[in-house]
Amino acid sequence: MITAKRIGLGSVALISLGAATAYLSTTMVLQGYSLTRRSVDSVVLALVIVLAAVMVGIFWRNLQRSLRAVGQQLRSMTQSGQIGLVMVEGNEDVSLVTQPLNAFLTALRSQLMELEGGNRELKIQSRIASAEKHHTEAIIFSISDAVIVTNRFDELILANEAAEKLLGFRLANNLRKTLDQIISDGTLVRLIRETRSHGRGFTRKVVEHSIDHKGQPRTFSITLSCVVTPNEEVSGVVAVLHDVTREKEIARMKTDFVSNVSHELKTPLASIKAYTEMLVDGEANDENTRREFYEIIASETDRLHRLIENILNISRIESGVMKVSKEPTSLTGVVKQVLGVAAPQAKAKSIHIVERLAPVYYQVDADADMIYQAVLNLVSNAIKYTPEEGTITIGLTVDERRGVAVCDVSDTGMGIPAGDLPHVFDKFYRVSANRKMAKGTGLGLTLVKHIIETAHDGKLSVTSEAGKGSTFSFELPVLV
Ligand code: ADP
Repeated sequence: MITAKRIGLGSVALISLGAATAYLSTTMVLQGYSLTRRSVDSVVLALVIVLAAVMVGIFWRNLQRSLRAVGQQLRSMTQSGQIGLVMVEGNEDVSLVTQPLNAFLTALRSQLMELEGGNRELKIQSRIASAEKHHTEAIIFSISDAVIVTNRFDELILANEAAEKLLGFRLANNLRKTLDQIISDGTLVRLIRETRSHGRGFTRKVVEHSIDHKGQPRTFSITLSCVVTPNEEVSGVVAVLHDVTREKEIARMKTDFVSNVSHELKTPLASIKAYTEMLVDGEANDENTRREFYEIIASETDRLHRLIENILNISRIESGVMKVSKEPTSLTGVVKQVLGVAAPQAKAKSIHIVERLAPVYYQVDADADMIYQAVLNLVSNAIKYTPEEGTITIGLTVDERRGVAVCDVSDTGMGIPAGDLPHVFDKFYRVSANRKMAKGTGLGLTLVKHIIETAHDGKLSVTSEAGKGSTFSFELPVLV
């Protein structure tokens, strides 16, 4: 028996055959009942038509159901994004369509899988590229030197904060603008452009160039390199600007220091040698002259000793090998000792010394020798940088409320220009305006700073006005 489900297009032929058979057999049966031929024909025809209509209806409903199933499966594939196979049970005629459709879907699925694989690969590559970009940017942003990166059209594509500050622009507002629109320093723009146009044969160039920053000229060592792609094409330029102003200054100071130190060492040595030779040659005939020569030799030896001590002590304190032997010390006593030693130097310049000292019984916990050196340096500086007939005032007070002893060394000398004040405690620093006034090494104040602040936890400061004078003050905790 043919079930409704199994009825397909091909079955229509079978149905028609069945209908013809039924027609013949019905005709024969009805003829047995002696009905007229015409009536028999009509009844049989009607039966065949009804049967055919029923068959066609069943066939049509099945076809519709199968097609709906195909549509439903295609829709759910669209929604899920998953390509599968279309399955319709029992209807062989529909398989005429579903078979090629499934072949097409299978081919589509394999192409889609290939595309998905490629897409995944691309996503991974893009993630790696963006991680590398962030990494590179993080490196560039963490560099303290100014870094500028341009592309092949001399447009800005990257700059770190140091470059923004130095050249006065914001990267965010100037991306992809040409350098000459952003940077006012024509030489720098030209250097970057030349580097790019010289192309791949060009490896790296280091140029020294001075750039105005906040009205001050600063010297930069600029390293220019081409960025070359794997195809050997120049895709841009990286410029790194390293500020060498301070290094150059230090190099100059060191050169000055060597010449100053050798001068400072040679001068006392030369006079010691000369006076000793005169004594040996018997050129000092009387006792007074001999005595004068001996005194000169002794004072020059002291000077030499002081200089060498300063140099050695700075390096001892800096390297941490200096032994600080603290004990209760009268600051007033130390200051008096220094004034005794410095008196001849002051007298030679007719400098008047005023003492305003606290009573001797106030004591600080200090290394007396070191504090002596600190005070001696401050007093000798005051004498050195004060013209003849000036005044130096040494004040020593005790601030009982704060528990500190304060020592002020004031003079009516050259003073220190405001621009130099922050640097006077730097090693080898000498104020240019005062150079002619006295020879020196630029080490005295560095040593004083180390003695007061590093070795004694005290505080050293300076106030000064060019042409009027200076006051150096230090304070140390007082013992109660
Ligand atoms: P120097 O051996 O050159 O005197 P210092 O370290 O003692 O070295 O001082 C550093 C600089 O500070 C000096 O070169 C000088 O120009 C300036 N200076 C120090 N003390 C005074 C002062 N009392 N008055 C004016 N300038 C001073």
